[in-house]
Amino acid sequence: MWRMSVPSHLPDSRQSLLGFDIEGNEVWVIRGISQKAYTCPGCYGTVEIGEDHVIAQTVHRVGGTEHRHWHRGCALRTLVPALRRVKPVNARESGRAKLESRGKRAAGKRGRRTPRR
Ligand SMILES: [Zn+2]
Repeated sequence: MWRMSVPSHLPDSRQSLLGFDIEGNEVWVIRGISQKAYTCPGCYGTVEIGEDHVIAQTVHRVGGTEHRHWHRGCALRTLVPALRRVKPVNARESGRAKLESRGKRAAGKRGRRTPRR
């Protein structure tokens, strides 16, 4: 029986997960409904249009973002267990625009708030 901080559930419309991959990049695990068909990186099967699935959006330490679409089962078996320090976050923190703007700066330069001057 392994013990990790991995939540036993996947993200829903109110809650996402935030973890880190082996290279220390942020990986935001977000619930999504697909607008088109995608190939799941876990099983190479198709995530169908309209399917309730999981979006893994990586915000790289050096800046830049990328995202992949996973089946929920594949994300639970493969994606989430591979992440470190996984914690639940409010889904409002994981909007795509927010994460893309987060990816415009390298990790060390991303303060949690903009300094006032
Ligand atoms: Zn899959």
